[in-house]
Amino acid sequence: MKLPINYSVKNPEKKSLKLETLAIKNAKDQYNKLHPVSAPIYLSSTYERSEDGSYAEGFVYGRHDNPNRRMLEKNIATLENGAVCHSFGSGMAAVSAVFQSLKMGDHVLLPDDVYFNIQTLIEGVFRRWGLEHTKVNMSDLQAVSSAIQSNTALIWIETPSNPQLKISDIRALSTLAKAKNILVAVDNTWPTPILQTPLNLGANIVVHSTTKYFGGHSDVLGGCVVFKEKDEHAERIKLIQTHGGGIPAPFDCWLIARGIQTLHLRVTKQTENAQKLADWLVEHPRIHRVLYPGLKYHPNHQIAAQQMHGGFGAMLSVLIDGDETQTVKVSTQLQLFTTATSLGGVESLIEHRKSVEGPSSQTPANLLRISIGIENIADLISDWEQALMVI
Ligand SMILES: *Cc1c(COP(=O)(O)O)cnc(C)c1O
Repeated sequence: MKLPINYSVKNPEKKSLKLETLAIKNAKDQYNKLHPVSAPIYLSSTYERSEDGSYAEGFVYGRHDNPNRRMLEKNIATLENGAVCHSFGSGMAAVSAVFQSLKMGDHVLLPDDVYFNIQTLIEGVFRRWGLEHTKVNMSDLQAVSSAIQSNTALIWIETPSNPQLKISDIRALSTLAKAKNILVAVDNTWPTPILQTPLNLGANIVVHSTTKYFGGHSDVLGGCVVFKEKDEHAERIKLIQTHGGGIPAPFDCWLIARGIQTLHLRVTKQTENAQKLADWLVEHPRIHRVLYPGLKYHPNHQIAAQQMHGGFGAMLSVLIDGDETQTVKVSTQLQLFTTATSLGGVESLIEHRKSVEGPSSQTPANLLRISIGIENIADLISDWEQALMVI
């Protein structure tokens, strides 16, 4: 059967279109001869071979490639201004692929407040495989520079960081790394390409937990790795994806692809809400401190303002003026913030990070992490007002 010509030849130069336009345009199905406006889910695990032995559009087997996956990857690569994207069954599978792509004896620099599960993965698995690591304050260029070793292969950046909302200077760190032939990978899950595009600032790799803002509705898990260049390293990640097999299911790709079409609307609204809530909380006598890069007193507000565009994200943390019991009480007293882990969905969530991270956690006992949703901001603020009255 003859398949339609690739739509992409009709696409105008990608540079001339804005992100929110590309997010819609790239969601179009170019593989179905019925030309549906909304892409169907391709569940088939295998594909028919033509008489001449070739495979139409190159689809052979579900682990290798899938139309929903390919559409998703193309869309994310475009939004991050990358050459290629490889998607995985979860954010951690994507993170894991990046570390698996290094070699024995390599050394990586991690932020001192690296995402907790990455710390556990490195300690529990990759250290045994001979991957060395040092944790360093990623906001301190001098400290990063001093921590570089002759075998340093990768600098891992999370900005804004979890849950302390620290900011790292992507451009400066990339310049430093490039001079020493070190790769820079940025976990861009929190800001999303709507607010921050690390590959444009000099990073080589962007990683996402698509579970969060891309999916946007707390109903799917996924992850991806995006490369600035389609180089040997990108090929190795693809090998880990297709042969390692940690691929996302077609339905999951479809859900995430659908989420991406409203990413711009959601993130813009959520970011506006977050800034307003942060501005309100900062004035409240029972709030000891608000950790949010959109506040002028944040130590790296200026860097955040330079490298983020259109706002400072929809995640913030607060330090309650109280002990651990009072802090947890505030979180349960809130009616419109569900006490649950994760982030990036349309609904507001709140979490006492220390209890989630366990005894080895470095997170302060009076810290609550907030993921802001798309609810009305006046309602969210009133909720905080009543919750803070109980302590
Ligand atoms: C959630 C998260 C991850 C892990 O992603 P999963 O989809 O839960 O596996 C990695 N990095 C950041 C910043 C996250 O928020």
